[in-house]
Amino acid sequence: MAAPRPPRSDAQTRESAEEVARAAAAAADWPALVAAATPCVACPELAATRQHVVVGDPPVRGRARFALIGEAPGATEDGSGRPFVGKSGQLLDLLLAEAGLDRAEAAVLNIVKCRPPANRTPKTPEVTRCSGWLRRQLELLDPPVVVALGLSSAKWFLGPRTVLAEARGRPHDVDGRAVWATYHPSAAIRFGPAGAPRAGLLADLTSVAASLR
Ligand code: SF4
Repeated sequence: MAAPRPPRSDAQTRESAEEVARAAAAAADWPALVAAATPCVACPELAATRQHVVVGDPPVRGRARFALIGEAPGATEDGSGRPFVGKSGQLLDLLLAEAGLDRAEAAVLNIVKCRPPANRTPKTPEVTRCSGWLRRQLELLDPPVVVALGLSSAKWFLGPRTVLAEARGRPHDVDGRAVWATYHPSAAIRFGPAGAPRAGLLADLTSVAASLR
């Protein structure tokens, strides 16, 4: 199947999203999905400015025990092609270890696979177009537990009216998966080591670890 093409207008966002979803659905396994997503140009602005489509990391071995899902790649991720490898990723790794979680057992993904310019929040049409890749990733990797990092990710799973402070601290059943909404590590960096987001993220990861025992 050809790579999804750029839409000619905003009105074609849905058509473009359906094209992405068809390409994703045709991927029988993880390597096929990576091959299909890598040339994607469904979002013209992102495709023109990115260095890599950051498809995501499957677990190092076996089935994913849980998935970590952020908003979109940052500059370091865009340059390397890998998710959560910059400052946010380093803090996430630290807090995962403190909580007793092993990143090697996780799928590490983003809602949107291409870096928005200047790290702006992804636009709604970009999220709509890119969602087909994530849905297929969840089907292929089938993690029983999802950690939604940040509000964009929480909204993707729990709906557009989600308030992070209200959604945190407990799992939500979404299509048979336990979805935990928590802070993005970038918020933990922004508010500093004594800030509430870092403590909240660690507490939520600790709860996730307890739920997996
Ligand atoms: S953000 Fe997603 S849908 Fe848009 S061009 Fe990148 S891979 Fe394709």
